[in-house]
Amino acid sequence: MLLTTLGFFALTGFFIWLQLRKSAPSSDAAPATSGGNMTSTHNCVRCGAPVPTKSTYCPGCGVAQQLFEIVAAPMALGATALGGGQPKALVRADMCVGCGTCVAACPEDGAISMRGKLAVVNDALCKGIGECVAACPVGGISVTTGAAVNRVSVPLIDANFMSNVPGIYIVGELGGRGLIKNAINEGKLAVEHIASELPGGEARPDGDEDAFDVVIVGSGPAGLSAGLEAHKEHLHYVILEQGSLSDTVRKYPRKKLLLAEPVSIPLYGDLWVADASKETLLEVWETIVANTGLNVKTGVKVDRVVRNGAFFEVMSDGARYRARRVVLAMGRRGTPRRLGVPGEETEKVFYDIVEMEAFAGQKVMVVGGGDSAVESALGLANQPNTEVRLSYRGTDFNRVKPRNTEKLNKAIAEGKVIPMLQSELREIQPDRVRIEVEGNSMILPNDTVIIRIGGEAPTTFLEKLGIRIVDKDVPIQMDVEAVNSGAATASPSDSTHVARAG
Ligand SMILES: Cc1cc2nc3c(=O)[nH]c(=O)nc-3n(C[C@H](O)[C@H](O)[C@H](O)COP(=O)(O)OP(=O)(O)OC[C@H]3O[C@@H](n4cnc5c(N)ncnc54)[C@H](O)[C@@H]3O)c2cc1C
Ligand code: SF4
Repeated sequence: MLLTTLGFFALTGFFIWLQLRKSAPSSDAAPATSGGNMTSTHNCVRCGAPVPTKSTYCPGCGVAQQLFEIVAAPMALGATALGGGQPKALVRADMCVGCGTCVAACPEDGAISMRGKLAVVNDALCKGIGECVAACPVGGISVTTGAAVNRVSVPLIDANFMSNVPGIYIVGELGGRGLIKNAINEGKLAVEHIASELPGGEARPDGDEDAFDVVIVGSGPAGLSAGLEAHKEHLHYVILEQGSLSDTVRKYPRKKLLLAEPVSIPLYGDLWVADASKETLLEVWETIVANTGLNVKTGVKVDRVVRNGAFFEVMSDGARYRARRVVLAMGRRGTPRRLGVPGEETEKVFYDIVEMEAFAGQKVMVVGGGDSAVESALGLANQPNTEVRLSYRGTDFNRVKPRNTEKLNKAIAEGKVIPMLQSELREIQPDRVRIEVEGNSMILPNDTVIIRIGGEAPTTFLEKLGIRIVDKDVPIQMDVEAVNSGAATASPSDSTHVARAG
């Protein structure tokens, strides 16, 4: 364990050194107005300092400008901004983590393919259907019709990640931007702002010693980073997590993660686990939690947050946490409904499914009778040598869209999906499941269980809190350089379509 940790730190340090040489903001960078080719500037949305247009960091507060691409984007103004050309998929080179999910999801052969760690779109073949948009786990693809913007629907937040409800902050994927590095940076910045208003170790004017300065909801990369910053700033805080530590990452089917650049974690320093396994990342986080004594309560699902005078009441199953500030770091996967059967907490159970190929060759039981369950079953049925059973307690799949009914009937007729109507899963064991079918108990060999029986979307949670969801137009620009960077191997002559934030 010690050797692994030392080796990990040494490797991380080396990569960080290399990366910093390439990407750190230069301390002696010329001011924006000093001539050369850096004549154009904009003001940093966080600190107001002038930032040369080509600079990726603010020379004033040192924060990567990319973090504010949604905050700084204008509100969407009608349909005209969407352009009028043929719809085409557009991959964000700065977001793509190279998982290949979009390639498997696209119904048009060759319209999207992998070049190294980057997905690229072939304009001639892409019909803009958009299955890839829904499939991408990091929100790295959009379908545009020639507009220079990407329209997104996001909660309204300011440059400190505070929402329109004063005192409530939204960080990480819940705010509309994917990637572990963004989540870590946003969590840290939000709590930096809270600490600037509520300095650690000082008596509070409200005199309530029991109240938390900040309650953080969610222990993914955003929530953990927010908690570490709160710990560092000596705030009275707690992190509440509905599942286990960093539940979303723990439940990835994929083994490898990509952190494209180092991120600075409060109380830890720079972390860069390029192409690391998810286990490595989780091990690092668990070590940080153990070493710092971070105050995380797992198995606590937050149901509601309401304002009560000067405080917020964060409620979970009868318990109430009084807080001066709340950081919502809940990701965008929401709270899936659970079956409540023995074995459901094990690693072989998933509530969301991306990267179908990770399950190839397995015996998979999908539970549910709606579109999401049927779509999961159909996607898995296309994986080689995969046995897919679809368990539903109803008598037929009459709740699904006609398009899915047609595909499901075909897959059933071809023996690719085995339907199990009037069935209820009773127990999940490492290599089998126990299921009741029309009152008869059966044991079936099983590798994976996918439960898709609905749940609460995070936007519903936000709307109940009075947080506004708005449409914004995020500028995008074609970036041939990115295609030809070390991350990808496409040549300029390829018919590719790759973008990054403008
Ligand atoms: C399959 C897959 C592969 C990916 N690969 C990469 C990659 O290689 N590199 C990369 O940078 N990014 C990758 N991502 C994206 C990355 O994982 C996310 O952007 C990142 O995890 C977002 O962090 P977060 O903290 O905002 O949210 P999450 O990691 O989703 O964490 C949210 C946490 O909040 C908890 N929560 C939710 N609701 C409640 C509630 N009501 N009460 C209490 N707790 C709650 C959840 O259980 C969860 O633990 C991948 C994503 C997926 C799905
Ligand atoms: S991250 Fe998104 S765009 Fe990149 S390969 Fe995966 S699904 Fe495709």
